[in-house]
Amino acid sequence: MDLTADISTVKGVGPKTAELLKRVNLRTVGDLLYCLPRVYENYQTTVNIEDLRPGKVIIRGKISDLRLVRTGRKRLTITQGVIRDETGAVRTVWFNQPYRAKQFDEKREYYFTGKYELKSGRYQLTSPSATLVQDVNNGTATNFQPIYSAKSAIKPQMFHKLIENLRPEFARIPDLLPFTPGKPLFVKPGARAEALYNSHFPENPDDAELGREYLAYEELFELILAAKLNKQENQRLQAESLKFNAKFTQTLVKNLPFALTGAQRRATWEILQDLEKNVPMNRLLQGDVGSGKTIVAALAAAQATANGHQTALLAPTAILATQHFEGLQRLFSDLRKEISAVNSSQGIKIAPKLGAKSDSPEKTGAGVDALSGSSPHDFRLPRIALLTGATKNKRMLKNAIKSGQIDLIIGTHALITDDTAFKSLAFCIIDEQHRFGVGQRQKLLLKSSDGLAPHLLAMTATPIPRSLQLTLFGDLDVSILNELPPGRQPITTKILAETEQRDELYPKMRELLAKNQQIYWICQVIEEKNASTATPVKRQLKKLQDLFPKYKVEMLHGKMKPEEKDAIMARFAAGKIQILVSTTVVEVGVNVPNANMIIIQDAENYGLAQLHQLRGRVGRGDQPAQCFLLTTGEGRPSKRLREMEKSTDGFHLAEVDLNIRGPGEIYGSQQHGELNLQVANLSDTTLMAQASHHAGEFAKNPAELKQYPELDMRIKKYQQLTTLN
Ligand code: ADP
Ligand code: MG
Repeated sequence: MDLTADISTVKGVGPKTAELLKRVNLRTVGDLLYCLPRVYENYQTTVNIEDLRPGKVIIRGKISDLRLVRTGRKRLTITQGVIRDETGAVRTVWFNQPYRAKQFDEKREYYFTGKYELKSGRYQLTSPSATLVQDVNNGTATNFQPIYSAKSAIKPQMFHKLIENLRPEFARIPDLLPFTPGKPLFVKPGARAEALYNSHFPENPDDAELGREYLAYEELFELILAAKLNKQENQRLQAESLKFNAKFTQTLVKNLPFALTGAQRRATWEILQDLEKNVPMNRLLQGDVGSGKTIVAALAAAQATANGHQTALLAPTAILATQHFEGLQRLFSDLRKEISAVNSSQGIKIAPKLGAKSDSPEKTGAGVDALSGSSPHDFRLPRIALLTGATKNKRMLKNAIKSGQIDLIIGTHALITDDTAFKSLAFCIIDEQHRFGVGQRQKLLLKSSDGLAPHLLAMTATPIPRSLQLTLFGDLDVSILNELPPGRQPITTKILAETEQRDELYPKMRELLAKNQQIYWICQVIEEKNASTATPVKRQLKKLQDLFPKYKVEMLHGKMKPEEKDAIMARFAAGKIQILVSTTVVEVGVNVPNANMIIIQDAENYGLAQLHQLRGRVGRGDQPAQCFLLTTGEGRPSKRLREMEKSTDGFHLAEVDLNIRGPGEIYGSQQHGELNLQVANLSDTTLMAQASHHAGEFAKNPAELKQYPELDMRIKKYQQLTTLN
């Protein structure tokens, strides 16, 4: 079977279906084969309604008496219905899924899978999933059934049918993985065909698990091999060697407004050493929110400047870029004063600032903080500029960058795709990202005129568990800031049911506002949406404005224009807004030390990594901080929220997250577009270790990849993976 053949060659795929499939990125026979079932249902375990016992159950019957009820509190919707089979009837209930009331055909039979339990004195089937009996028994005899996900306009039954049409050809699915030393036993000839067959046509749960194991392995092998090849390719590139000058760095460190933590010293040292090499650095600086990554990056940028080369610092948002600009401008200008005061006695001359600034950086969106290079070369500190969408005198600034008058350019990721040209870009720092893809590196290569690749430093507050560091992120070197600067105030975290906010939360908010401190209130969505029940920013804004009339309450969200967002954020930072109702756009990196309370509404809707990131917005000053996780109070709080209450250690939370999650995403992937695992489970550590070993053996002779064209193609795709777009 040719897996690269066009999807229209599959029996049953006409031009119209082909079109629909391609629209959801299913273009080849292989794409379809790898469209794996979402879950399996064991319909053999279907029970009669009269025999129901509490717990997870499957029943088969017709549904009627569907009715939608709205409760007064928080517009909760409840859909009720009655399911009947020959033996009896049972009440069923869905919360906040109003579409359920219209979903069913009362004349047809469904399998209902859900939890049978006692609620308010009555037994009911809670939030069951439903599948048409006809779809389940479609063509196949077994009652252990794969359930496919609908994809856009394509119904699950369609996947059933098409895969069924391919069934006779499964034995001819070619192998993918190399049979080199180091592979585990189940990677044998025919393994892939067998695994795909087991996944699509299992007769029992063991079959399905065997299929999953191999396919998970395949996925991990590809990712890890791609990482290893990236590393090897990186090693072949050339970079500018940025020499370390002990006296220079010591002078800077000595004159900082604070003493570096041990972790900061170690990380700085690792980075400065990497910068000296003529192979490009590819390093990840990982440190919890507030661990002080910026100063480490600043010291590295200073080394590039001292060597006469440029640095770009890229942030995910204009707000963050502006904050970096202001912070670093202050830092370097203070350093300049300190050093010149100390050194004037020792005869080291530092030239005055270049050019008088007529406009403040807030007004122009750009500013040049200069420490002239005419004084002893080694003691030149970076001249900084900010380049964002809001920058007014862009052309002038871009000319200054091109002619080398700016040493450290701060902007958003657009900097590497737009037309900004550099004189000599030798170092690129990227904040709040995990990795650089090959594509991005390519673009950066184009930015440097002499064919040298810039050194890369990615910084992230999302901790990556160790097992992943060694495998999926194997192409990166990692420095860790596992120590917070001294004097940080604790953040207390509390899960609170919305029904209790009046008694518990509002008084605490008043108390804090009376002390002239500020509050973040986080909502998941901007406006009311049909399917979602999350409280929107706009509604909450109104509510808080009514509740706290004496204070300025404003909102911030992703649909606002960049300038609007920046203006609101600036006013919040300046203390002119007391309560900021916002979506997660405030999430990464934003620093307002006077904000000491954060309320996260509908907290159950967020991932652990994201909750931790959000909480990191507070506790950045010298006051104790509080975080409230608001829930509807319906059920018991999830393990995620309870872990948040117990711990503020990002690394611990990342490990927990890894254990809680099923197959699927890596930490915070939705926000970052991070790579998604389709099959493998992040807790598959044994598989990962095996795949890492096998890929390592294979990577010793990367030229052999040519003999495996399909694998080669897939690996290339993974090598391109990036979060930067
Ligand atoms: P993050 O790692 O979250 O990016 P930042 O670099 O923004 O953290 O640092 C957070 C705050 O801590 C900043 O105000 C910074 O000046 C301060 N800071 C950084 N390092 C130290 C230190 N060693 N001692 C005291 N304060 C520090
Ligand atoms: Mg930061």
